Amino acid sequence: MTEPACRACRSRAGELVLDLGDQPPCDYFPAAADPGPDPEYPLQMWLCAACGLAQLVADPTVPEEPRGAEPAALVAQAQDAVRRVAAAGLARPGLRVAEYGSPHGGSWLPLLTGRGLTAVGDGEPADVVLDCFGLMHAADQAAAMAARAARVAPGGVLLLQFHSLEAIIAGGQWNALRHGHYAYYSTTALIPMLARAGFGPRTAWRFGLYGGTVLLAARRDADDGTDGTRGADSAVADLLGSEAHAGVTDPAVLRGLGDSALARASGLHDWLAAENTAGRRVLGYGAASRAVALLRRSGADRRLLPGVADASPGKQGLRMPGTDIPVISPGQLARETPDAVVLFLSDLLPEVRQAYPEIEAAGGRWVDADTLACPAAGSGGLQQDT
Ligand SMILES: [Zn+2]
Repeated sequence: MTEPACRACRSRAGELVLDLGDQPPCDYFPAAADPGPDPEYPLQMWLCAACGLAQLVADPTVPEEPRGAEPAALVAQAQDAVRRVAAAGLARPGLRVAEYGSPHGGSWLPLLTGRGLTAVGDGEPADVVLDCFGLMHAADQAAAMAARAARVAPGGVLLLQFHSLEAIIAGGQWNALRHGHYAYYSTTALIPMLARAGFGPRTAWRFGLYGGTVLLAARRDADDGTDGTRGADSAVADLLGSEAHAGVTDPAVLRGLGDSALARASGLHDWLAAENTAGRRVLGYGAASRAVALLRRSGADRRLLPGVADASPGKQGLRMPGTDIPVISPGQLARETPDAVVLFLSDLLPEVRQAYPEIEAAGGRWVDADTLACPAAGSGGLQQDT
């Protein structure tokens, strides 16, 4: 393969660290009657040896579907983050704010304008420029960072929130790798990106969202006569230390995600096949984008898994991308009286047990897909869609 050019620093020195093969776009749910084949694109992560940015190789340019409802965890984290930013004196009444949001939703603007900040129009400068899971959706990382930095008014602050690569490694979250998500950040890799825009980190906050989310505050070096990490506080130093310990720029560490992917996919397949052989009926729950790569990699079909239930009415009548497995309603799931329901969103276990007591009342059991990994698998951290 020709080495790609880094999306941030343009270097061609680097390594392919995770290769999930050809995968359908994880938001592309075709109609159940659509026989396919579905479009598929290589899904690969490359690690830049020069700046340390982990990134998506291919660019299938598939638009992502905006998400309707925001998960409660995302809303609660936004409130927590805005409180902390305000407590640090960075979100004061009267300041101007510009937001680069995520196509999946989760805007902080109502929270910030509720505190007396004023939202500015497209392209106008602002005292607070906020990026909340938006930057990862830009194919050209250098240009996207430059555009955000350019909007920061003199003396202003740039706030960047990202799902941390350290958390992806710690949780074996290999299916965080998705088409449309071009970069997987560490603070370590963001510092040179910021430096090219004339910015440096000042402070940071960590959150439990998605197993580990970081909000980094950066300022223009010329504003306070500093450069590099000289203006950073101990929170930034702690992050950098913790990332170094985790090995966020070590290709060997990132290659471990491939082992986790293999173990979870083959674990799911082997378990489904064993249940099938034993004559037990298994259905799935949670037609989420994070289930797509797992199901596709496991090679499961409707013979092994005749349906995946989902509460979202918009997904019923569709099928799981890259497979012939239909999405069914929770009502149909209960009527089928399955012996087991494999759950693709493990954090929903208490919720689904309570919502669908008829499954267990009829003798069925819930099984967490993340626990089916073969031995030698990566550990099972919870994750959500960003
Ligand atoms: Zn680079």
